[in-house]
Amino acid sequence: MLTLGIIKPDAVAAGKAGKVFAHLEKAGFTVRAARMTRLSQGQAEAFYEVHRGRPFYDSLVAFMTSGPCIPMALECDDAVAYLRQVIGATDPAQAEPGTIRKLFAESKERNAIHASDSPENAAREVAFFFAESELKGLWG
Ligand code: ATP
Ligand code: MG
Repeated sequence: MLTLGIIKPDAVAAGKAGKVFAHLEKAGFTVRAARMTRLSQGQAEAFYEVHRGRPFYDSLVAFMTSGPCIPMALECDDAVAYLRQVIGATDPAQAEPGTIRKLFAESKERNAIHASDSPENAAREVAFFFAESELKGLWG
C-alpha cells in the first residue's frame, strides 16, 4: 500500500533530504513518486485543514510555505502505520532513538517529515500531490 510522506522545509533547507531518502529506503520503503515543490498558502491551509483553529495552525502554515518541501508517495506493506513508526513522535524530544524525527528534526513544529495518519488520509494526501496517471505512468 501507499502512504504520503513530506520532507518538510526545515530538513530540505538544512540539506538533509538525501539522508531522509536513504533512511526511508533502508527501512524498506519504495519511493513511487516524489517532487520538490513550494506550497502556496492555499495548498498548505487545505492540506492541514483538520488542524484549522488549533493554536499552532497559522505558524504551521507559515512554516510549511517557508521554503521547498518534497512530497513522496511511499510504498511498503502496512505503509501507513510503519511510516509513523519510522518517523517517530511529533516532538523530537519524545521520539524513539533511530527515528527520522529524533535524527533530523529541530523542534515540535520544525520536525523534518510528515506522514499520513490513517489509510483514509493516506489516500486523500497521495491524491493531493500525485495524479493516478502519474503514479502508474512513472513505473510503466
Ligand atoms: P504530521 O501531520 O506533520 O505528520 P503529526 O501527525 O505527528 O505530524 P499533527 O498533530 O498532525 O502531528 O500536527 C501536524 C504538524 O503541526 C506537526 O507535525 C508539527 O509540525 C505541527 N505541530 C503540531 N503540534 C504542535 C505544537 N504543539 N506546537 C508546534 N507545532 C505543532
Ligand atoms: Mg498529522
